[in-house]
Amino acid sequence: MNKNYALKRFGQNFLQDETVLKKIASTLDLKGKNIIEIGPGKGALSKLILQEAKQLVAFEIDYNLCDFLKLEIKNNNFILINEDFLKADLSKYKGYSIMANIPYNITTSILFKIFENNQNFDEIILMVQKEVAERISAIPGSTNYGKLTVSSSHFAEVKKLFDISPKAFFPSPKVTSSIIHIKIKKVKPIIDDTEFLSFVKFCFAMRRKTLINNLKVQKNFDEQKITHFYLENNLNKDVRPQILTLNQYYELFKCFS
Ligand code: SAM
Repeated sequence: MNKNYALKRFGQNFLQDETVLKKIASTLDLKGKNIIEIGPGKGALSKLILQEAKQLVAFEIDYNLCDFLKLEIKNNNFILINEDFLKADLSKYKGYSIMANIPYNITTSILFKIFENNQNFDEIILMVQKEVAERISAIPGSTNYGKLTVSSSHFAEVKKLFDISPKAFFPSPKVTSSIIHIKIKKVKPIIDDTEFLSFVKFCFAMRRKTLINNLKVQKNFDEQKITHFYLENNLNKDVRPQILTLNQYYELFKCFS
């Protein structure tokens, strides 16, 4: 394979900085663990994971990279799957953790694929665009707080760990990256995840409008229940959707069930 091989359509920016690679690998205690990697690329991170983990299952969409990896990594604990991660059946991977430097253009789809299968996973380390890391780990009331924050915090506790300069990659991306740590919640309210996520999406449909304006277009809007919710939570009628905490969103969701 050509040294400069990289396909834009698969978001291929390969990590080359050994110090950064080691720093990422050390964010999880990999010893004896079963790990999933999404997009192993040329295997730089995979090799470090394999030094500690019990097994590494890697999903790589690009068959040219799979051919390369088969020659590059000869290890019985390395299970390489030439498949689009977004189409993969994850039900058989119970008790796995995930570590991956993923393509930016499918970050949200990957996150929600993981959340759909949340009970299978424990800890997840992902490299994402810095802006996404800031949105996902934002606090209520801040400008970055939005539907991605609320939806993610329904499933997990998310922390931004550190940033990575574009210089650590070849080819260099145009943006700064960040590593985030996602710890799946073992206990969460018993509600329909899909319905809650689409409710949250609705609440943030028009960020610049008041929350109540977004709510009014929902079916099952009950003025009395909503007024009661606002009073109970000491909320002014003019609040924007980015003010409410996750627990308040749970309470509000109940007003529509
Ligand atoms: N992990 C490698 C590294 O750090 O150098 C490569 C990272 S590169 C940003 C993203 C990788 O994901 C590429 O190898 C790309 O081919 C692969 N990829 C892109 N879309 C994918 C998908 N839907 N499923 C699995 N792998 C994918």
